[in-house]
Amino acid sequence: VCRDGAPIYDIVLEDSFDRLPEEMERLGSQGRKLCIVTDSNVAPLYLEAVEKLLSGCFSQVTSYVFPAGEEHKNLDTVKRVYEHLIQNRFDRKDWLAALGGGVTGDLCGFTAATYLRGVDFIQIPTTLLSQVDSSIGGKTGVDFDCYKNMVGAFHMPKLVYANVSALKTLPPEQFSAGMGEVIKHGLIRDREYYEWILENKEAVRNRELSVCRRLICGSNRIKRQVVEADPTEQNERAVLNFGHTLGHAVEKLKDFSMLHGHCVALGALAALDICVKRGMVPEAEADRYRETMEYFDMPVSVGGLTKEAVVAATKNDKKMEAGVIKFILLDRLGHAYVDRTVTDEEMKDALDAVMERP
Ligand code: NAD
Ligand code: ZN
Repeated sequence: VCRDGAPIYDIVLEDSFDRLPEEMERLGSQGRKLCIVTDSNVAPLYLEAVEKLLSGCFSQVTSYVFPAGEEHKNLDTVKRVYEHLIQNRFDRKDWLAALGGGVTGDLCGFTAATYLRGVDFIQIPTTLLSQVDSSIGGKTGVDFDCYKNMVGAFHMPKLVYANVSALKTLPPEQFSAGMGEVIKHGLIRDREYYEWILENKEAVRNRELSVCRRLICGSNRIKRQVVEADPTEQNERAVLNFGHTLGHAVEKLKDFSMLHGHCVALGALAALDICVKRGMVPEAEADRYRETMEYFDMPVSVGGLTKEAVVAATKNDKKMEAGVIKFILLDRLGHAYVDRTVTDEEMKDALDAVMERP
């Protein structure tokens, strides 16, 4: 068990779902209703077990299953969950639980933030990305038209309960994408943690339970420290966006056909190139990072795009402030900061490091 005494809420790491009832009762579930929101891939794997475990702690447990995939993280799905809640007479005291990856967490969290002006919810993340990243920090939201996370709210979960064993069933490419965010945490905040990941990379790739637990614990600690220092992203929280400025641009131009964690890792590789050229990080570190990406089966280059298009796509990013991009750089390995001086030329040069030549 990894429980760090949180001022906001607990993050519990377990090897099974078995302790969910205990945690729910501790939070005061008796007499309330629960709606478990999950997707069509996760439902056949874990819904029945979780429903059964929780049926004794609530007056009623229902579930809403939506079709898996980012394309369903939108207001239409939110509307269907509202309808389900209204049909089942959910009131202000009742709870929602997000069982699944980041798509489920964002969607369920947003529904919880807005239904009856806000009801409580619990995160039960089942992907690596959601266990280390998206379930923590209280950002919720859905996509709107072609705009990602365009509509959202800050709404903290009452509890994050991560069952590390659930990662066993995760498709390899999803695990690989999650590693993109995990390694980013080391790069921006904790060199020792970064070195530990590299030393244990074989055990991580084999998804050894004890190593995965330490990995998730380490990443959680970093994400949470950053978020607690700046919950609504006025400043410091922005360092979590390392790799995201160029990563998001690639993700968008590729019509979201590449996984988010992979785009972030590519964006981080390009950002590291800027750090190398500015003399803040040795070139050998950028090479070592690229080798690590390859080890975890992440793409280290992208084709079919021009540098100009990628740079143009960074301009309507949410990370803009008064027309200036808040670019995240490392002034040394393990320490990130917000830089407002990165030029288009620097970005284009850096993209050379990650773009396949036509
Ligand atoms: P996801 O929720 O789509 O999950 C990926 C795939 O894995 C899905 O097909 C899902 O059905 C399947 N799956 C989930 N758990 C499984 C398991 N244990 N075994 C087998 N299959 C499983 O995607 P994700 O990568 O978890 O999250 C991406 C989303 O998270 C994006 O929408 C992104 O915007 C969001 N996000 C949010 C935040 C935040 O702070 N709120 C941060 C980062 C990302
Ligand atoms: Zn991300």
